[in-house]
Amino acid sequence: MNEKITLTIGKQKNIALIAHDGKKPDLIKWCEDNKAILSRHFLSGTGTTARMISEKTGLPVRGYNSGPLGGDQQIGAKVVEGRIDLIVFFADPLAAQPHDPDIKALMRIAQVYDIPMAINKASADFIIRSDYMECDYDHDVINFEKNVMDRAKTL
Ligand code: PGA
Repeated sequence: MNEKITLTIGKQKNIALIAHDGKKPDLIKWCEDNKAILSRHFLSGTGTTARMISEKTGLPVRGYNSGPLGGDQQIGAKVVEGRIDLIVFFADPLAAQPHDPDIKALMRIAQVYDIPMAINKASADFIIRSDYMECDYDHDVINFEKNVMDRAKTL
């Protein structure tokens, strides 16, 4: 069994949107500016961010719990299940967050499953204009079945 398996991020992507309070206006504007592109994909987000984007832009955004109440962890779990393909996270580097460990956990799990994660407007701009937004994208991720099999055998 191979160490890696090839997964495909489809043409129509599942995009998770998250913004810290100080960055919510910036993310809402970014969504408005990129509405034509975003409307071709499936959108979700942490509770407050999702609701505000829906209300202000009219885009349909499925809402999870609020970030500090576990919303980032719900999104992380969806990444593990292969149900989120891209995260756009407008993080506020100048404000302390009560759920800092959850944010780090989400970044880590995005690395483990090799999914694109924008952490500010510039990275979000670069990603949203990428050619890969318009086609399938194959990537190699850790073969979790083999990982468990090997660990159970050797530990
Ligand atoms: P919120 O959560 O969208 O519910 O405000 C965002 C966050 O701070 O992680």
